[in-house]
Amino acid sequence: FSSVELTRHYLDRIARLDSRYNSYITVTEDIALAQAKAADERLATGDAPALCGVPIAHKDIFCTNGIRTSCGSKMLDNFIPPYDATVVENYRNAGAVMLGKVNMDEFAMGSSNESSFYGPVKNPWNTNCVPGGSSGGSAAAVAAHLAPAATATDTGGSIRQPASLCGLTGLKPTYGRVSRWGMIAFASSLDQGGPITRTAEDAAIMLNTMASFDDKDSTCVDQPLEDYTATLNDSLQGLRIGVPKEYFGEGLDPQTAERVQAAIQEFEKLGAEVKEISLPHTDLSVPAYYVIAPAECSANLSRFDGVRYGYRCEDPKDLNDLYKRSRGEGFGEEVKRRILVGSYALSAGYYDAYYRKAQQVRRLIKQDFVDAFNDVDVVMGPTATSPAFEFGAKSSDPVAMYLEDIYTIATNLAGLPGMSIPCGLVDGKPVGLQLIGNFFAEGKLLNAAHQFQ
Ligand code: GLN
Repeated sequence: FSSVELTRHYLDRIARLDSRYNSYITVTEDIALAQAKAADERLATGDAPALCGVPIAHKDIFCTNGIRTSCGSKMLDNFIPPYDATVVENYRNAGAVMLGKVNMDEFAMGSSNESSFYGPVKNPWNTNCVPGGSSGGSAAAVAAHLAPAATATDTGGSIRQPASLCGLTGLKPTYGRVSRWGMIAFASSLDQGGPITRTAEDAAIMLNTMASFDDKDSTCVDQPLEDYTATLNDSLQGLRIGVPKEYFGEGLDPQTAERVQAAIQEFEKLGAEVKEISLPHTDLSVPAYYVIAPAECSANLSRFDGVRYGYRCEDPKDLNDLYKRSRGEGFGEEVKRRILVGSYALSAGYYDAYYRKAQQVRRLIKQDFVDAFNDVDVVMGPTATSPAFEFGAKSSDPVAMYLEDIYTIATNLAGLPGMSIPCGLVDGKPVGLQLIGNFFAEGKLLNAAHQFQ
């Protein structure tokens, strides 16, 4: 079948079914069909990249030239970027077809997709439950077969946790592997783009196109590109797996723990050696993150002032009124909470007590992993504390919501690649196994995941 037929198939499904899930904010039907037609012509030449003609969805955090990019916020409801993010450009150049822009927590702040200006996303496995966040739209779209794959971003778990809750594969690459240019910033030292797919093989194909060196992002690493599909079938004989004892403590649902332990044992059958390790500063990762991420967000979001772009209040009396009301009306509650926390942590007199301290703790957390990777190749544990929870279960308690990312946040603080793959069900809902690798060891993670799947 042709790319036009495949694209029509997905567009039809979106039109028919997405009212149940609310995974898309914008469907770019005309662009998709035009791109599919061009891809069919390129495929006919016999010389086209692997993704040519394949439809995908982009998280609405990636700028798309001429297409509204909302970041899940009223603040950017009217924002039409004049350029493409590097990630979007990479997929366009590879001939991939853009189906549309998918839903997310406002400015990627959240773990349940309940904070989007466009309404919550429903988990296709159980529509009373959240899909996870912040990339809940990416995960729900792939889980409901409304896209074969989607782009996403992960600042503290936003690729891995929704992948876990929706029974999918999600990969957060090493910080610097994927360009952040044109990806709306939340916490710049932690943000990283990556794919959400059904399988590790699909994730490898997606990452092959997504990863690039980009001189427009000064934190992008000039490291040779790899073909992540080339090592998928390597043997796992002798692979050293470390299981941190801190990832199986209080707060982890016992049935989830059981599924994750069983999955790790499967790796032993594939020839891996499993041993217990310790990441002693694990319990400090949530507090350190919730100082550093809000601090960076308070600086990044200062650009939304009602002047240059985005939402502007009606009839401002003067400049201060313009700032105050544009930001007061344009941002949602969680975003405001983060800006307040971050501004406080950075203010004179508190900076040393909070921000500097959090950065020192971050260094200790990274060192835990550096030490661990002297002895093991891959670290494994749960991705989330439980399967998908119901709407409203955590939305009125920010700290309960923040603890949702207790197993994923340390990876971002350290800059390491992390992945979540499905490893079974609890009460009919998916559970994710998390794999954490050394810097630039995405190929190893994908290899291990592919052998398991
Ligand atoms: N849930 C975390 C937060 O709310 C992580 C979000 C993310 O990775 N973008 O900050």
